[in-house]
Amino acid sequence: MAERPNILFIMSDDHAAHAMSCYGSRVNHTPNLDRIADEGVRFDNCFCTNSICTPSRATILSGTYNHINGATTLDTPMDNRLLTFPKLLQGAGYRTAVFGKWHLGEGAAHCPTGFDDWAVLPGQGFYHNPQFIFNGPDGGTMRTVKGYVTDIITDMCLDWLEARDHEQPFCLLYHHKAPHRPWYSDEAHAGMFLDGDLPEPATLQDDYRNRSRAAAAAEMRVGVHMSPTDLKCEIPVDLPEDELRAWAYQRYMKDYLRVVASIDDNVGRVLDYLDAEGLAENTLVIYTSDQGFFLGDHGWYDKRFMYEESLRMPFIARYPREIQPGTVNRDMALNVDFAPLFLDLAGVPIPDTFQGRSLRPLLQGHTPPDWREAMYYRYWMHRAHHNVYAHYGIRTHGYKLICYYNDALGQPGAIDTPYEMEWELFDLREDPAEMRNVYADPAYAGVVRELTDEMHRLQAEVGDARHPADVM
Ligand code: CA
Repeated sequence: MAERPNILFIMSDDHAAHAMSCYGSRVNHTPNLDRIADEGVRFDNCFCTNSICTPSRATILSGTYNHINGATTLDTPMDNRLLTFPKLLQGAGYRTAVFGKWHLGEGAAHCPTGFDDWAVLPGQGFYHNPQFIFNGPDGGTMRTVKGYVTDIITDMCLDWLEARDHEQPFCLLYHHKAPHRPWYSDEAHAGMFLDGDLPEPATLQDDYRNRSRAAAAAEMRVGVHMSPTDLKCEIPVDLPEDELRAWAYQRYMKDYLRVVASIDDNVGRVLDYLDAEGLAENTLVIYTSDQGFFLGDHGWYDKRFMYEESLRMPFIARYPREIQPGTVNRDMALNVDFAPLFLDLAGVPIPDTFQGRSLRPLLQGHTPPDWREAMYYRYWMHRAHHNVYAHYGIRTHGYKLICYYNDALGQPGAIDTPYEMEWELFDLREDPAEMRNVYADPAYAGVVRELTDEMHRLQAEVGDARHPADVM
């Protein structure tokens, strides 16, 4: 039997693909992350099924959609009795650990399970001198660790790798807090981007015309809906909105990119360690983020919407035994597929209850003929944060159909103010920036019918229920 591969699963929080140079970033360089893509594969169409922390993380661990695993919102922590890939790998003889961001709840019912060792941040955690919850009885014990969070999490991983039993394959979840809001840099990167301005995204001054009401209602505009903590200074009150957006974008994005630079350096330390220990050949290294993020796109920061910048996850993978260096994959991969991939690679049977599909053939460069051509998305937290409306939708390679059903439906944290349902259709080939809703355009009537049917079919396939007013 072939030696089982090690798994190093690196996940950051809110790191958009368009802030990585291997994805063609216009604003920064990430040489260490690029190494993974150069020596492995870059996925260009990897998407999350619900663009916020807790739900995406629960999907990744359990291989199921949120209506199945129960973690639909930020206020529905994951039940740690759920079957997850770390539990299955641990049961199959892997040494398992998680260090860093968890954000799936705390205490005995929600702390990490399926891990031999762990230390996680409570909630969002702090950038400087963070508290960690360490593995222990009744959900663990908390103590403060001095230093910068990205360095500390990396040190924990390196220490754990160094001390591990070399006879056992490992599965290490190396999960950064960064670059989540409020984007506090460390000293080492504070001097970056001091000179000159960063290029602005083309849609920074989006006026939200030709879209549903949800876009204009969202309270996540750069500058307008930011706090002095976000921008590390007082916010001018007398600037017209376009000037305020342009000014705040520079401050916001520079902080964000400084925080990303620390991730890049630290990932480099870990890649160097794998090289030095002779582990590079037999370790699957993945870098991803729990969802995407708006980097001034549509005038926004944050995520939640099914729009491209938020929906897309960076996903790069290196495993020299099975992945050709420098390859690019454009098939549709989802966060629900990660757990099946890890199990497949470890030779562990994938439970029937898991809803994703192993990405392994895609890593190897072979797309199965029946691979998906469409994906299903749902954001449940109606108006709870940034006044983003509840919606679900379908994305194919050419189109995106979004149904803003605008209803809390009793979801924890969601606000019970239902609005009339609205729809958006984007022709992604003609309008990749999603600036023109063509739902009502008669030329697209056939596409609307087809996609609506396909969305309802996908919804039924994954076991979700449509909104009662969605009767088309
Ligand atoms: Ca996140």
